[in-house]
Amino acid sequence: MTARVLIVDDIPANLKLLEAKLSAEYFEVIQASDGLEAIELAQREQPDIVLLDVMMPGMDGYEVCQRLKQMPETHHIPVVMVTALDQQSDRIMGLESGADDFLTKPINDIALFARVKSLVRLKTLTDELRMRESTGQRIGALDNASYTAPVDLGGRCLVVDDRERQRARLCEMLGAVHEVTVAESSADLMELAAHGDYDLVLVSLSLQEEDGLRLCSQLKSLEATRQTPILVIVEEGDTERLVRALDMGVNDYLTRPVERNELLARCRSQLRRKRYQDQLKDNFQRSLEMAVTDSLTGLYNRRYMTNHLATLVDEGAHGGKPLALMILDIDFFKAVNDTHGHAAGDEILKEFANRLSTNVRGIDLACRLGGEEFVIVMPDTDADTAMTIAQRLRTRIAERAFKTDTDQMIDVTVSIGLAVAHWPNDDAEALLQRADQALYRAKSEGRNRVNAEAA
Ligand code: GH3
Ligand code: MG
Ligand code: MG
Repeated sequence: MTARVLIVDDIPANLKLLEAKLSAEYFEVIQASDGLEAIELAQREQPDIVLLDVMMPGMDGYEVCQRLKQMPETHHIPVVMVTALDQQSDRIMGLESGADDFLTKPINDIALFARVKSLVRLKTLTDELRMRESTGQRIGALDNASYTAPVDLGGRCLVVDDRERQRARLCEMLGAVHEVTVAESSADLMELAAHGDYDLVLVSLSLQEEDGLRLCSQLKSLEATRQTPILVIVEEGDTERLVRALDMGVNDYLTRPVERNELLARCRSQLRRKRYQDQLKDNFQRSLEMAVTDSLTGLYNRRYMTNHLATLVDEGAHGGKPLALMILDIDFFKAVNDTHGHAAGDEILKEFANRLSTNVRGIDLACRLGGEEFVIVMPDTDADTAMTIAQRLRTRIAERAFKTDTDQMIDVTVSIGLAVAHWPNDDAEALLQRADQALYRAKSEGRNRVNAEAA
């Protein structure tokens, strides 16, 4: 693994030592000797991780960390505080300013590399999601919606510890802020974790009956739980297990005896990151939907239909499979708007789309071409079947008046033009054009009817 590491320390000798260690492991190193420079470099260079000295003249490490964690360009970058102090209160203060972890000077190399690698690996998911978000913004499907830090950081925690007293203590501390569930066995854990939608799983690595590391690896290998953050609890000095857990991808750890504020601070930073990732995932999903669907009706949009039709035409032309298509245009829709208002018109469009999608088959693709024009693409469909479907749709629209929000009943009819592909030399544009000509005839012959292209 290679990564860009920003190291920050006011003492040149410390920078030099850390730089040598990291370079030997093939990390790319960037250096800053004070807080302001660190912030500027972090913004500009986008490192994968920051190793931050606490005691610095001017702006100290806590404040640098706090600022990094507040800025949209840098808040996702993990920060490890490097400190000569090993006071519990300093750790809490660091965690509260948003730090992801601590290393104590003199730095233990094994702990350093294990933690740096683990945090960098954990960051790749966030990076991927951020990239998708910026793509979504570029294609215009997403606003420049900035990340809103959640106010309430209570979450659903699942606890695995089979030692009665420790477990009770853990639950008591967590329970003040979070909703806590206890897993009684490994089977229980897998079942709960897969279906319970937990924000965080806390696993003791010193279980009496089971192997805690194995449980973590099971959680990380199952699709349903792979993304759920895991916080392990290790015995003081058990570096070997800790390193293996970090290698496996657990998100964070606590050393016994577990201290209340540290526990809560570490849970909080896991929850904060998970919420951020969930938000990015939701945005991505939404951008996908917006890129291919019409926002008023929820049907596929013209862009999607055009691409999909091109694919079907390609396939059909090669395999000779039948393909049919209809264009539907609501009759006298301008008059509906003029009489009942634009809002009523919109409601009719929605209900119209609804009747279309509930009356076509699963393989048919309904799309809104624009305005009051719709297209239904019907793969594997011959001319007779297409005619049956079109007549059914025409009837479904005309037989029952459309009801608006204000309880007006409005009669609506539709005219439909049909075309089927003629292989091997047909193409999407020609197909659409023939359906459009058929539609034109349906209109001129009196509307509320289906017309197939001339054979
Ligand atoms: P025809 O039977 O010949 O199709 O007559 P028409 O009035 O339906 O056709 P025309 O193309 O003249 O008018 C279409 C109308 O559809 C005009 C426009 O105001 C309305 N329209 C287009 N898009 C929307 C929309 O998103 N919402 C609403 N409410 N009306 C729309
Ligand atoms: Mg029209
Ligand atoms: Mg019309």
